[in-house]
Amino acid sequence: MSDKIVLRFAPSPTGPLHIGGVRTALYNYLLAKKTGGRFILRIEDTDQNRYVEGAEEYIIQALRWVGIEFNEGVGAGGEKGPYRQSERKSMYRQFADQLIASDNAYYAFDTPEELDAMREELKAAGSSNLQYNFAVRGRMKNSLSLSKEEVAERLASGDPYVIRMKMPRKEEIRFHDMIRKWVVFQSNQLDDKILLKGDGMPTYHLANVVDDYHMGVTHVIRGEEWVSSTPLHVMLYRSLGWENSMPVFIHLPLILNPNGKGKMSKRQGDKLGFSVFPTQWKDPKTGDTSSGFREDGYLPEALMNFLALLGWNPGNEEELMEEDRLVELFDLEKLNNSATNFNIEKLNWFNQQYIRMKTEEELLVLVKPELEAAGYRIPSDSFLLEVIRLLKERVTLLTDFIGQSKLFFEAPTSFNEKMKKKHWKGEARDLMAAMKDKFSAIKDWKAENLKNAFEELLVEKEVGKGKILAPLRLVLTGEPSGPGAFDIAAVIGREETQSRMAHAIEHLA
Ligand code: GLU
Repeated sequence: MSDKIVLRFAPSPTGPLHIGGVRTALYNYLLAKKTGGRFILRIEDTDQNRYVEGAEEYIIQALRWVGIEFNEGVGAGGEKGPYRQSERKSMYRQFADQLIASDNAYYAFDTPEELDAMREELKAAGSSNLQYNFAVRGRMKNSLSLSKEEVAERLASGDPYVIRMKMPRKEEIRFHDMIRKWVVFQSNQLDDKILLKGDGMPTYHLANVVDDYHMGVTHVIRGEEWVSSTPLHVMLYRSLGWENSMPVFIHLPLILNPNGKGKMSKRQGDKLGFSVFPTQWKDPKTGDTSSGFREDGYLPEALMNFLALLGWNPGNEEELMEEDRLVELFDLEKLNNSATNFNIEKLNWFNQQYIRMKTEEELLVLVKPELEAAGYRIPSDSFLLEVIRLLKERVTLLTDFIGQSKLFFEAPTSFNEKMKKKHWKGEARDLMAAMKDKFSAIKDWKAENLKNAFEELLVEKEVGKGKILAPLRLVLTGEPSGPGAFDIAAVIGREETQSRMAHAIEHLA
């Protein structure tokens, strides 16, 4: 075996990918890139009851949008395929059989009613542990309790059964986790998990271990919700004789809600007004649509940078890191060992920085379709480039361009009341008329010349700046904030500027 690092991201297609899953995929991706390793996308779809139409496609395109790519697996090909577990179904059975032969697993024929009855009995006896385990397996219907003949008969007659792991009764199961160090479980706390189901499909546990082994996975980086499954996985490696090929385990701590309470959830995101999915997801059953970070105006580069720091840090103060830099600095030794709060302000800050780092031309490609969809009539790309240049430093989200650029495409139809009260009074109307005349004389319509004309007028009329500038902003935009008035006038052009001024002089009460 080569000593190449082999990583995998192994989602189940049960719905859209939560931001926690994206972070898991990202850490695998960064490590694979850093080490020149293989990075596999494996779809774990053995639980047909939880299968959701469209989820696999969603996962692939959402990760691609973030910039996470695989060099092996579903959609990428490779020698160890197929990479969709449902298509590997026939491969798992032999390992379940091998476990039975070595007395590490057994057939269990219990009906759902019998399982219910077992739990009721345990409850009645005051037990809080209702698991199918070493304590009860002896009185259930399985190949450990029934005679060889009966088992053979049941199997021959096609009695439904599952294959269960025979968890040892009294054993300490330890494994090393890069973040948690040594983790210890007592086997008597663990149940006899189902490995192979009645329909011949493996469960997550068996399929996951068999595939990690056969695909040569060297490092398992996954969420901490899988810590409790790991002792079973360790037992599987041992019982199958694969102990020497056991991967390094790295269980990432949770991402918490912004207030630090509880796992970051869609419900909390909805409440606080932000998404928890990378891209929009349409639920195939209910038809409900949940917006994603993409639709909300985030750049994938910003999301990647932000997520990288949600559980890892480079060990210095560096924060703004594009992909190449993340790859360069990423280090498993610097993963956080406690949960991190999801801080949307931080993500917004990153987004702002990444928007500023883009050229106007790059932003045009991203923004133009949105503005067109919003119904704005864009006279030319060069016009739009000017608009973007003026707004680039002022927006946080790409979607902010829609609201903030409106004034370039349409004359204001409403005027900020407070501003009007304060600045559209006394001689304001007359000064505006004088300003309009002065502007008419300008030959080369550009911001600098407009400003010069304005300064001349200040001297002539012996008034302070605010007496003209604030009313000018009001008549051009209707709003107190935004880019400078002369910059706006320069972009919208002579005709439009004069028309907005004329309109205000005549109609603005
Ligand atoms: N299929 C599991 C999931 O949905 C994979 C867990 C693992 O990485 O082992 O997250």
